[in-house]
Amino acid sequence: MIVGGVAGGASCAARLRRLDEDAQIVIFDRGYYVSFANCGLPYFVGNVIQQESKLLLAGPDLFRDRFNIEVRLRNEVVAIDRQSQQIIVRDVDSEREYREPYDALVLSPGAFPIRPPLPGIDLPGIFTLRTLPDSEDLRSWIDEAKPRRAVVVGGGFIGLEMAENLAHRGMDVTVVEMADQLMPPLDPEMAEGVCRHVAAHVAHVQLGDPVAGFEQSSDGGLVVRTWSGAAFDAGVVVLAIGVRPETKLAQEAGLEIGGRGGIRVDSQMRTSDPHIWAVGDAVEVRNRVTGQWELVPLAGPANRQGRIAADVICGRDSHFSPVQATAVCGFFGLTVALTGATEKVLRRAGIDGFKAVYLHPNQHASYYPGAKPIHLKLLFRTSDGRLLGAQAVGEEGVERRIDVIAMAIQMGATVFDLEETELCYAPQYGSAKDPVNLAGMVASNVMRGDVQLASWPELDTTEAFLLDVREVEEFRDGSIDGAVNIPLSKLRARFHELPHDREIWVYCRAGHRSYYACRFLAQNGLRVRNLSGGYRTYGAGWPQGRGQVCMS
Ligand code: FAD
Repeated sequence: MIVGGVAGGASCAARLRRLDEDAQIVIFDRGYYVSFANCGLPYFVGNVIQQESKLLLAGPDLFRDRFNIEVRLRNEVVAIDRQSQQIIVRDVDSEREYREPYDALVLSPGAFPIRPPLPGIDLPGIFTLRTLPDSEDLRSWIDEAKPRRAVVVGGGFIGLEMAENLAHRGMDVTVVEMADQLMPPLDPEMAEGVCRHVAAHVAHVQLGDPVAGFEQSSDGGLVVRTWSGAAFDAGVVVLAIGVRPETKLAQEAGLEIGGRGGIRVDSQMRTSDPHIWAVGDAVEVRNRVTGQWELVPLAGPANRQGRIAADVICGRDSHFSPVQATAVCGFFGLTVALTGATEKVLRRAGIDGFKAVYLHPNQHASYYPGAKPIHLKLLFRTSDGRLLGAQAVGEEGVERRIDVIAMAIQMGATVFDLEETELCYAPQYGSAKDPVNLAGMVASNVMRGDVQLASWPELDTTEAFLLDVREVEEFRDGSIDGAVNIPLSKLRARFHELPHDREIWVYCRAGHRSYYACRFLAQNGLRVRNLSGGYRTYGAGWPQGRGQVCMS
């Protein structure tokens, strides 16, 4: 018996049938649909996907005819009687309740969008997005009310996808985010460019300012008020402020719930009851890098977990690997992707002994038309170079690099492995030294002691001599206070101008020329450090260089 018939539940059911032709398999879902593509919902609202049928991956008929699996829609499992191994099911339409016995029970009830008890939260025109009917309601509202302005509350994955799709429907969109950055899973300096990009495509981005409540305006619209006292008019509001695991059923049945609020399972997706498995957004999983329990509401893990649960139910010794939260999101032509741990996740987990390198290589050969930078941050363990995480932002080629690094992290690879990674190359796809190789090389240089890094936040406290090795015109366009400009090509001739009794911190645009400079200076007996990521990272990340465009 399977509770929930979308990502985790449907995969589990189909796998079960592939492994056991004789099992009786029933999927219960309280909704109107089974196996629908919830990841496509923002694009259905935005009219990018125009036919709802495209989102229905498999209906009850297909499950019955192709797999001999029974799907009972509008049937909610309301309780689990563990003693007698029965579930209590309520037919939502007739309100009839009945019992169904199980040998193995799989819970895949997902997660529900957070809807905080703010004043006015229940006013018409305020939506969350989880199910197909949610997206139908939102679409109908937009079609009928024809709002000119929209407010999206929450600047994470779903919030920014919704911002893009509402803008696509012709609305002026304001994004209100409680954190002082968009894309909260990213490290803040990586999110700064994201904010600038989004701000260029929407009416307004309001950061560091939680929503205080909602009011009806005199013209029938909505007013979204924030803690700072700001007010934003909206014809429609979409809340995308995160999800909570749906654990009521499990909790009431006395199954163990973990510290993060998800159902606790072992690596075989078994709950604290040996006859009950749980998968998907409702469960806690181990993070591969930090070893800590986490909630990772993503479709990939849910699908794989469904498959593992089916294997185990059928007697196979399968195990679910820890997660890396590999994720990608695209909006307004920008792609953001990450895998493994970020710097803030490492710090929160109390992990130190790591370093970060930043680089900004193009996605393909610079001489081939259309070259665009990928802003990449790679985290690695200093004791042995083991990869811990990567984040990338750019217009093209972002997800490919993160996917490669995701696999490397999964295999326990080091920065030295990335140096040697052999990837496909032609000018329109990459470079002979791919951004993945470059990331490995930059980090390996640090590991081997060829160069020492300095990070931009350290600028506040350093006494070091600051050397800018960019060209004079670049320096004129903007530089760091107190820096002295000697272009790399003049460095040998002007070597005598440098102090020999102070550490020298070198920077250029992206860290490449400054690396050459560091090698030259170090081999001539000077103490040098390379400012990681160059002026580009400085401009993106730290208060001195930070653009004000997105600040509240
Ligand atoms: P769900 O897919 O949510 O399915 C749970 C089902 O269980 C629901 O149909 C519910 O009605 C049913 N149910 C719950 N309780 C009961 C009960 N007691 N009785 C009967 N039925 C019950 N992930 C990505 O990796 N990439 C993306 O781009 C992405 N985009 C997303 C966009 C949106 C708008 C949303 C909402 C999610 C997105 N996700 C994305 C997340 C991904 O969809 C989820 O991680 C995945 O669907 C989780 O699968 P699940 O089986 O745990 O739960």
